[in-house]
Amino acid sequence: ASIFAAVEMAPRDPILGLNESFAADARSEKVNLGVGVYYDDNGKIPLLAAVRTAEKARLEAAPARGYQPIEGPAAYNGAVQNLLFGTDSALLADGKVVTAQALGGTGALKIGADYIRRLLPGATVYISDPSWENHRALFEAAGFPVENYPYYEAGTRGVNFAGMKARLDTLQPGSVVVLHACCHNPTGADLSDAQWNEVVEVCRARGLVPFLDMAYQGFADGIEPDAVAVRAFSASGLQFFISSSFSKSFSLYGERVGALSIVTAGKDESARVLSQLKRVIRTNYSNPPTHGGAIVAAVLNSAELRQMWEDELGGMRDRIRAMRTGLVEQLKAEGVAQDFSFVVKQRGMFSYTGLSAAQVESLKSDFGIYAVSTGRICLAALNSKNIGYVAKAIAQVVK
Ligand code: PLP
Repeated sequence: ASIFAAVEMAPRDPILGLNESFAADARSEKVNLGVGVYYDDNGKIPLLAAVRTAEKARLEAAPARGYQPIEGPAAYNGAVQNLLFGTDSALLADGKVVTAQALGGTGALKIGADYIRRLLPGATVYISDPSWENHRALFEAAGFPVENYPYYEAGTRGVNFAGMKARLDTLQPGSVVVLHACCHNPTGADLSDAQWNEVVEVCRARGLVPFLDMAYQGFADGIEPDAVAVRAFSASGLQFFISSSFSKSFSLYGERVGALSIVTAGKDESARVLSQLKRVIRTNYSNPPTHGGAIVAAVLNSAELRQMWEDELGGMRDRIRAMRTGLVEQLKAEGVAQDFSFVVKQRGMFSYTGLSAAQVESLKSDFGIYAVSTGRICLAALNSKNIGYVAKAIAQVVK
């Protein structure tokens, strides 16, 4: 018999499954709000001009494709560090930060998880309730028990900060706490600057291991303001982890460009930690691919291209904001009595709309509008052509 004869079919990824149903829908007015991708006003994934310019130069230079260092090139890792920690960072000056290029934010979480599993084999990992759907599976696959801490509060459509803090305050020392650094996925509800300082103090008091997941730097208020959580932890003197990604901010989803950064207590520790992290990488995929990282490094290390990128990133941010305010206004204009103003306060690409699973189902079957059954919608999938249709449809299903 085949060794695969008894293999069971794994459950479909819920969001990819949604995309498949969307693709099969024949209605021309259909809209996919289930995605986690930024689309421009024409409903297309943009190729940024800064990226195109850097790619053209790279094509002309025609560099050879030798193996990269296991941790990726210094030009890339240094650029990542400057974005996360700021160019004037004392941690960077003191050699307290180890950074390795990774296969997107997911790859950064994975090598971070594998490394922590070797460092702290008995740790439990805590993720927000709810969280990005891959967090639990990823840390479980790395061998950790995974539990939730309270996060979203349906009543206020904001953060249940008291509940979150109270839970963190009960955790065993050495527990790993995964925190969305900005633009919380899936809820769009973020902590305030003051709340970040409180989280830092709980982590310090209880000896927790913070793991910041930064997948959307620049999508809320800008590159610097969106780094507030990183800066709060940086000022604390604690050791912590950051996974970061350029999938969204550079619109380079398929190139898989991200990084893992680890803050240590000093230069000597950094060297030892990097040597261990390199073992994790070496036994996973040996070293990272060249193209995406080279493009990001070229953009970030050129004053001209960096400005071009910041302008384009600002354009994406402004367009999402315009869709947030536009949706709220159009719902009002459609006669919806319910207050949707929370949509403007939520940050990043997503909103937890409060739509029930039945309402989401009705959006799909009656209007060809696809959203996640939890009520999460991607504001970056709205545009000037479909927003009116979506507002009308939501008005119908909430009536
Ligand atoms: N972390 C969070 C919170 C995300 O929302 C995402 C992507 O949706 C990722 C990590 C993964 O990013 P990447 O596509 O770069 O692997």
